[in-house]
Amino acid sequence: MPRGPVREAVTRISGAFSKLGIPHSPVEILINLAPASLEKDGSWLDLPLAVLMLQVAGLLPDLPEDKEDKFILFGEIGIHGELRRIPGALSLAFNAKPGQSLIVPAGNEKECALILAKPGHEGCGVYPAATLEEVLDFFRSKSRLRNALREPIRFQPVLEKAVDFGKIRGQQEAKRAAVIAAAGGHNLLLVGPPGEGKSLLASAIPGILPRLQESEMVELTRIYSAVGQLGDDGKAVTRRPIRTVHHSVSMPALVGGGSGTPRPGEITLAHHGVLFLDELPEFSRRTLEALRQPLESGRIQITRVEASLEFPSRFTLVAAMNPCPCGYAGTDRCTCQVREVEKYQQKISGPLLDRIDLQVGMRPLTTDERFAPTKDGESNRLRAAVQRARDKQVQRFAGTSISCNAAIPGGTVADYCQFTASAFDEYKRIVDQSSVTTRTADRLARVSRTIADLGDQDQIEAAHVLEAEKLMLKFGRE
Ligand SMILES: [Zn+2]
Repeated sequence: MPRGPVREAVTRISGAFSKLGIPHSPVEILINLAPASLEKDGSWLDLPLAVLMLQVAGLLPDLPEDKEDKFILFGEIGIHGELRRIPGALSLAFNAKPGQSLIVPAGNEKECALILAKPGHEGCGVYPAATLEEVLDFFRSKSRLRNALREPIRFQPVLEKAVDFGKIRGQQEAKRAAVIAAAGGHNLLLVGPPGEGKSLLASAIPGILPRLQESEMVELTRIYSAVGQLGDDGKAVTRRPIRTVHHSVSMPALVGGGSGTPRPGEITLAHHGVLFLDELPEFSRRTLEALRQPLESGRIQITRVEASLEFPSRFTLVAAMNPCPCGYAGTDRCTCQVREVEKYQQKISGPLLDRIDLQVGMRPLTTDERFAPTKDGESNRLRAAVQRARDKQVQRFAGTSISCNAAIPGGTVADYCQFTASAFDEYKRIVDQSSVTTRTADRLARVSRTIADLGDQDQIEAAHVLEAEKLMLKFGRE
């Protein structure tokens, strides 16, 4: 069944036709959108419908052979005949076969240029048009359309204006954990009293994230285009997203869903980027448990009566929390009962903590630390180190679907994490002594791998394992 926007297409098209002085069709036209069982939504069918109607009515010449089957076209037509940008254009464009070109609204030109990333599509063209008239003149061979792909496309990673790491005083351990999280894509939990910089540190992380791969840009641009969030300029997504979510967030807004066609949630918008949850225990238990599947698999399944949809959600979780309701557990200032502290910490379930590779405490700064000088440019240096570590991972995982160390599947840790003999002894000692779960033992190996990558070492050394242990088990020790 066509939904509202498709039914209204005829009204918009008729309006545009009269504006262009195109007479009413002498014959009645029946449009059959097959298959009937597939739900049609959105206004992208306007342009192909208009061209078809004119051809059927004999008002547009049959296409010359060189143009037949050569084009895929889509776009919304305004009442004055203008072509309007539509959501989801890149996903539609990806339906083009090799050798086919695209005729698209001018506003969709930039994202559609990413079609070049699809194998076999190096020779295709993207022809932007501002009005229906331009498209009709093209088919009447009255004028030409410009191929937007003639110019080589260069993707520049755009850096978010983030707080510089050099501006954050003290908290060496938490800063180091943040660098490791960025380098290996590891989830990070910051535990500390209020006002000691948890949110500040989280807001510095975007400044050190590694560049997006081309395939990651395509995936993200398809997602942001589908939800209509590409921004006013319609440019492709070229940097890793950071999504900050409040604890009052609804389930569909966080994981996806909603009424009608399921929409992607924040975890999908944070794909290849960072999802930041402040005040973690304030989130409902149900909400936090819903994060377990995507944290494990990098995907979220949304099941409906009619169909089951899957969205990608390989994000890095950065979460912050106080250690207790008053925020000062572990110091003289804490006014909480032991029971209260336990209850508060238990709001974060063991299985969720099991999926957070790095867990570090932040403590109040000493007076010396509070007055220590800050410096600029620290994030630039750290970002370069993060990028080198990520480049090693891209090489390591070439030809697999693994995106970073944090995503090494449980059963394959031994394939990717090679230890020196003394490092392996250290690893075994920690795993045996603390009788940790297999999941935690795997986390220890993955984090050690990232620390070795940051040190430009192919083999994991004992010092890497020891540092990983220190940054992993502060909170929720088994
Ligand atoms: Zn307290």
